[in-house]
Amino acid sequence: MSNDPSFIPFTRPSFNQETIDAVADVLHSGWVTSGPKLAEFEAALSAYFGGRPVRCFANGTATMKIALQVADIGAGDEVITTPISWVATSNVILSVGATPIFVDIDPITRNIDLNKITATITSKTRAIMPVYLAGLPVDMDQLYSIAKQHNLRVIEDAAQAFGSKWHDKKIGSFGDLVSFSFQANKNLTTVEGGCLVFNNDAEAKLAEKFRLQGLTRQGIDGMDVDVLGGKDNLTDVNAVIGLQQLKQLPTYQARRAALAHQYFDTVRTELKSAGLESLKLELPVENFTDSNWHMFQVVLPLEQLNCDRAQVMTELKDLGIGTGVHYPAITGFTLYKNQGYKTSDTPIAERIGRSILTLPLFPGMADKDIGRIAGGLVRILKKHYKN
Ligand SMILES: *Cc1c(COP(=O)(O)O)cnc(C)c1O
Repeated sequence: MSNDPSFIPFTRPSFNQETIDAVADVLHSGWVTSGPKLAEFEAALSAYFGGRPVRCFANGTATMKIALQVADIGAGDEVITTPISWVATSNVILSVGATPIFVDIDPITRNIDLNKITATITSKTRAIMPVYLAGLPVDMDQLYSIAKQHNLRVIEDAAQAFGSKWHDKKIGSFGDLVSFSFQANKNLTTVEGGCLVFNNDAEAKLAEKFRLQGLTRQGIDGMDVDVLGGKDNLTDVNAVIGLQQLKQLPTYQARRAALAHQYFDTVRTELKSAGLESLKLELPVENFTDSNWHMFQVVLPLEQLNCDRAQVMTELKDLGIGTGVHYPAITGFTLYKNQGYKTSDTPIAERIGRSILTLPLFPGMADKDIGRIAGGLVRILKKHYKN
């Protein structure tokens, strides 16, 4: 974080005064942990997702772990996923004792390549866990047709896809288990938090047990514990922030889409006026119907540059522009390498993980920020262009 007011971070949450007042009301109310505001938030989310059952959790990681527990996935089971995600995706698979199977990504969408899934299915495969990077969904028809054909559960890591759509349907309003994160950087935040959308009340009830010590209450004084649960409940303080964010969501979404539009226009114009038409800078898929524009990511043409990504990021930072890396291939982390995973097994993910760069995008950005960022990036690329 920089104290320079002109510094543009890669993201920043927006909270209005009404949200701050609503938090104060909860703090004054005498009940601050899971209670009436959580129930209200879960009901609002359920309405948002067309009436499907929804339960909230302390964070997106706990949400996905509980999804795996609800699907009874554990030791000896395999779960197919993508190497280009926040490491939480595969960490939760390991944490329930199952084995992540990494399938390479599509270089255009940067999501798991659905065409490569079938070849990796074995008798141990129990589920597919796709990730919608930057909020862009995969082909949901193809995903669910593969799952149906092989009798697999789908646990959607839709952490980045709140507000995204598939054709006319909201992500989360259909499908199997759909997990969202409300972490501070996500399009809808409760500071920390997450929610899981279910197909039926029985699985929602089971998830309630997993989130609170496996507990069931009976009558005024009865309780029982019949499964091993953890402590993963969302508080009313967080829930009330989520309720306010839900009201703001359409405004935030429109702003993100408008800024993304400007990025495409401005980056292309800057490249052209710098005479860099031959520079193979990869832009995101220009999808303004399905994506929620959680992030705007470019893939740097490192083979055409005489520097690495770190150098580009450093020079952008010197211009007061924050960037991020989402993400290096998970299989390159020591924990995963030690288990025998290799980045070279998924070469597209390896390349993109090395060269992907997240530019600033958040509702509070000014129009002029886009010009400053695109102009700065193109100047840096021109300086390091090899021919
Ligand atoms: C944010 C995120 C998570 C984890 O969510 P937390 O709320 O931070 O635990 C998991 N997967 C992806 C793709 C994410 O972006």
